[in-house]
Amino acid sequence: MFIAVDDTDSKEGMCTTFLVTELIKEFQDYDLLDLPRLVRLNPNVPWKTRGNGAIVITLGKGKKRRGPVGHIGKDVDLFQGIKKHGNEKKVFERAKNILETWAEVHHEETNPGLVVAKERPPESFYQGAVKDVLRLDLIEDHLENGDYIYQGYGKKRGLIGATAALSWRPDDFTYELLTYRKKDMWGRPRIMNEEYVIEFDKKTQKTFDCYDHEEEKQAIAPTSPCPVLYGVRGEDPEELKRSLNIIDSEEPERWILFLTNQGTDDHIQKMNISETKLWVSAKIKGKVTTKPHTIQGGHVIFDLKDKTGEMSAAAYEPTKGFRRTVEKLIPGDKVELLGGIRNEPKTLNIEKMNIIGLENKTVKESNPECPKCGKNMSSMGTDAGYRCKRCRIKAHEDLAVRRSVQRELTEGWYEVPVSARRHLSKPLIRDNICRSTSRLSV
Ligand code: ATP
Repeated sequence: MFIAVDDTDSKEGMCTTFLVTELIKEFQDYDLLDLPRLVRLNPNVPWKTRGNGAIVITLGKGKKRRGPVGHIGKDVDLFQGIKKHGNEKKVFERAKNILETWAEVHHEETNPGLVVAKERPPESFYQGAVKDVLRLDLIEDHLENGDYIYQGYGKKRGLIGATAALSWRPDDFTYELLTYRKKDMWGRPRIMNEEYVIEFDKKTQKTFDCYDHEEEKQAIAPTSPCPVLYGVRGEDPEELKRSLNIIDSEEPERWILFLTNQGTDDHIQKMNISETKLWVSAKIKGKVTTKPHTIQGGHVIFDLKDKTGEMSAAAYEPTKGFRRTVEKLIPGDKVELLGGIRNEPKTLNIEKMNIIGLENKTVKESNPECPKCGKNMSSMGTDAGYRCKRCRIKAHEDLAVRRSVQRELTEGWYEVPVSARRHLSKPLIRDNICRSTSRLSV
């Protein structure tokens, strides 16, 4: 039996992942048959609170996964109670009660959804919600006609995320261990020693996005007033649990280990320029057509074309040092860009860039020689061409003698720094490339 929940928090507080820990506490009389799941959905939807995440737990009786939740210092299994079984209706009522206790149900922008199911919905719901925008009426139709018990609150939008998260069938996946603050600390500044985040980063092999070496700051603790103390991400759950001993911080009150689709690039779709549309995330191959330039706010913009059209691409200000790489592109360079699409003008917000081919860059060495007298011709002004003063012969601007210069860029992959990274973006390190830098060495 699955319980899925989404859209329970607001910018002022709470976190849907915290609600899961309360659900798990409530259902100690059941076995937890799978790790709790934290499923990130389309990062471009405008109505997300923060990271557009929905959650699922799997309850039943059988072989349980050990140690997904515990209290600090005691890696205990919370599921040691007597196993008794109720029906889905009872499970739904108990889950609803937890949701209504913790969710910001009355907040105008919070529209929770709760779904209890015996089967996972078709995977197309996950694919649609992670890559595109789904309509609530289609979700409601499916829930109404299927074997589900569900409830939506407010605008009921949370039903979309809850149903989509339920339908996730992991192909690629990672883990996140989240720790939570004691209740009296909620809303107060987080106490954490950054040095130990660096140590954790160094001592672990399969973690990612913990420390931003470029910006020299930790990336595991949120800045919002939510109950999360920190979250560490990686491919090895045992390594993540080591954070509880290594990271020196205020004492967390509880922790939980999630199976997640973070760092998988599941949101990206290969497209050509004419197929791109607002709110999707695309992977596009094309040729740079304009020299990157900086606009107000520090964003670096250039244009790109493929066989089907032309559009802009941007390295926005929060991508910090990544912009210095983008600035070195020149017209003619061949690139593959991954990122979300926004409209007017249609622009791809770069998350990752693969430089496939570098154009030959030349500088002018000297003016062309006169074909009659052999002397160097004189320039007639910028882009105005050349003229031999003696013979009066004219020559086109392109006839200047040029030499190739070394490009400051090399071909290969580049990514935005950790602090500017989307939850779903697959870090280059996961493809066994390099860490702690935005450069991929191939
Ligand atoms: P948090 O990560 O802190 O839980 P959030 O960023 O997940 O918050 P929500 O409060 O869950 O934000 O709001 C996102 C809303 O958008 C949810 O109601 C969810 O169902 C809905 N939603 C998510 N993805 C899509 C999509 N692809 N199409 C339509 N609606 C979506």
